[in-house]
Amino acid sequence: MSDRPEMQDPQLSSLLAALGRELGESGVLTGTAVTERQTADWSGTAAAQPLAILLPRTPAEVAAALRLCSEYRQPLSIQGGLTGLTGGANPHEGELVLSLSRLNRIEEMDPLGGTLVAQAGVTLEALQAFATEQGWFFPVDLGARGSCQIGGNAATNAGGNRVLRYGMMRQSILGLEVALPDGTLLTMLDRVIKNNAGYDLKQYFIGTEGSLGVITRLALKLEPQPSASCTVLCALPDFRAAAELLREARRQLPDLSAFELMWDDYFEACLLALKRQPPFRNAYPLYALVETLGGDEQAGQRAIEDFFEQMMTQGLVCDAVIANSLEQAGQLWDLRDGVSELLAQMKPCIAFDVSVAMPHMDDFVAYLRRGLASDFPDQRHLFFGHLGDGNLHLVCGPFPDEARIEAIEHYVYQAVSDVGGSISAEHGIGMMKKAFLHYSRDPAEIAVMRRLKQTFDPHGILNPGRLIPD
Ligand SMILES: Cc1cc2nc3c(=O)[nH]c(=O)nc-3n(C[C@H](O)[C@H](O)[C@H](O)COP(=O)(O)OP(=O)(O)OC[C@H]3O[C@@H](n4cnc5c(N)ncnc54)[C@H](O)[C@@H]3O)c2cc1C
Repeated sequence: MSDRPEMQDPQLSSLLAALGRELGESGVLTGTAVTERQTADWSGTAAAQPLAILLPRTPAEVAAALRLCSEYRQPLSIQGGLTGLTGGANPHEGELVLSLSRLNRIEEMDPLGGTLVAQAGVTLEALQAFATEQGWFFPVDLGARGSCQIGGNAATNAGGNRVLRYGMMRQSILGLEVALPDGTLLTMLDRVIKNNAGYDLKQYFIGTEGSLGVITRLALKLEPQPSASCTVLCALPDFRAAAELLREARRQLPDLSAFELMWDDYFEACLLALKRQPPFRNAYPLYALVETLGGDEQAGQRAIEDFFEQMMTQGLVCDAVIANSLEQAGQLWDLRDGVSELLAQMKPCIAFDVSVAMPHMDDFVAYLRRGLASDFPDQRHLFFGHLGDGNLHLVCGPFPDEARIEAIEHYVYQAVSDVGGSISAEHGIGMMKKAFLHYSRDPAEIAVMRRLKQTFDPHGILNPGRLIPD
């Protein structure tokens, strides 16, 4: 008997033949070509072997593939760069994969207005490099930039380090083109900021994780290229000082682009993981990494030096290191980005990505640190986050078993719910947080999500079983 599923199932083999006619031979991978490809994301959640992999080259081919899959009621897993952290792109049993990796062209650039149109499979890094070559700047930035795709960034409404200044992916999107499950291609590639001509339909596809349509092209807004950046690592006496420092930085540093907070346990674990010497003579409860992106290097450096001198005099900052080269700035950023090394050492672990409003943040962290240390004493619990936008990350581990992980998830998400926060600040829901959605969304909201899914995708072929609880 053949190990190729299409040979055993006439319905599947008829669909694959029809798909082959639309996408060409190289557009439909089966058999060993499937086993050889990576088809799971970074989350570590379960992934089945897909029946076949579809590799359309144009938006029209994406739409044609969806139309055929709808006709055959064939479920699909939509895949961008597979750097997602929630298992949303992982194939389930009996699914085909639709990969956007061959839609990888930047099609148009307006060098005067600072906008461009790109296909969904362009990687974030390639897009950033192209914008820079054109004298512009694409501000969304995250550690996975080399692999993640801008279509995936839009589908997850990605955040990253500069949300404080430029917003999330949504704020950089002027227009979208989306293929719907019935094969309709909605081309909404506006290049204008103001457009109140009825419903702004693109919003339905930003952050909805491929559950309502497949993003094929994006019209994006670029920003003026900053020519100078200043980075400072500072030590703080307590959370109140951190919050006041952020408020003052917002008021006095118009070029402020990042404000990352690290609690002492995270900071010390990170130094150890990176084998680095502590940058300060003493240890402190909190550390902040502050970055400005501006146009004049000397003026920026002077502004940040004056600002930190003043903050030290006021007692909000205990000590500070100001980077005086790009290399030094990179070394300071390593401390914040060292989380990848930490995660590798703490496996099996869980990384939370929650949002909490500023007035609750201090009590929320204190409550969790106390509670987790007493109820989960065998694990390490490390806190850090993008304080500028209320996004807190918490890494807990290593865990002996899955049951213990689930217990801590309920514990943390209940605390998030109690302060009206969000269980997912930027990574989305996918498979990993589906069972916990009710901590952030009430039954009426979840019912509307189900109705939207039913309207856009009546046969449930796009990423079924993800995001919305069963
Ligand atoms: C090292 C590292 C650092 C990260 N840092 C951040 C960070 O700072 N901020 C942040 O927000 N995220 C971060 N992430 C998470 C991840 O990079 C983002 O979620 C990213 O936007 C996913 O893009 P992708 O192309 O890899 O999507 P995938 O992982 O392929 O897919 C993610 C979801 O989007 C859907 N999807 C993908 N492409 C499309 C499309 N064209 N149309 C419709 N649906 C689609 C998939 O079905 C899936 O549900 C990080 C991940 C890693 C590994």
